[in-house]
Amino acid sequence: MSASNPTILVLEDEPEIARLICTSLSEYGFRCEHASTGRQLLDRAKRSTPDLCIVDLGLPDMDGMQVVRELQDGSPCAVLILTGRNDLTDRVLGLELGADDYIVKPFEPRELVARVRSILRRYQRAAPTEVGGERTVARFAEWIFDRGQHTLIAADGRQTSLSAAEAGLLTTLLLKPNRILSREQLLGERDVDPFDRSIDVRISRLRRKLQDDPQEPKLIKTVYGAGYLLAAQVSWE
Ligand code: CA
Repeated sequence: MSASNPTILVLEDEPEIARLICTSLSEYGFRCEHASTGRQLLDRAKRSTPDLCIVDLGLPDMDGMQVVRELQDGSPCAVLILTGRNDLTDRVLGLELGADDYIVKPFEPRELVARVRSILRRYQRAAPTEVGGERTVARFAEWIFDRGQHTLIAADGRQTSLSAAEAGLLTTLLLKPNRILSREQLLGERDVDPFDRSIDVRISRLRRKLQDDPQEPKLIKTVYGAGYLLAAQVSWE
């Protein structure tokens, strides 16, 4: 997260909508850059990682989902999906791929700005200041998590990369181990819609990457009606 104005890349092929998004975001002090094809966005994100990408799913050159996937592999950053297809499967799939949130077209510019701010707040809240300056590597169970690199290192040295969303969530869990964290705490928001599945989807992705059996998780435990808990001793260095 840059200290000054966050940079947001907007991938949208319809010039009218792109202009609306960029105007709204600029009014609130965000630095906004526009890309009209998936390739253009991915090339731009490679040069320097933005704070957030807004990705339209319906694109002329490639599937927006593919863009989200490649972003997570190459330049992990926060992702907000923009979709005209009011289709639950797409949205859930987007979250599965590591997107942070989605918004359905047509949308109110104010709602878009609110979502963007809420995503960025989540990342800021999990910023390294909470564990003090340089301590960005956590050891827990058989794992080492490097939050700067968004990587998990297994006991045998094998590395797995996490999306920005997953890294943020794991950081929150690792900062308060052995305590029940509510969905609100994990999302960094108040009044989370009880039907919002984004936390559950992200938890299940994290479990998979931590080889934690979803039927009988040992590391990230579900506390029914309350939230989740990371059962491990954690040391930050
Ligand atoms: Ca489009």
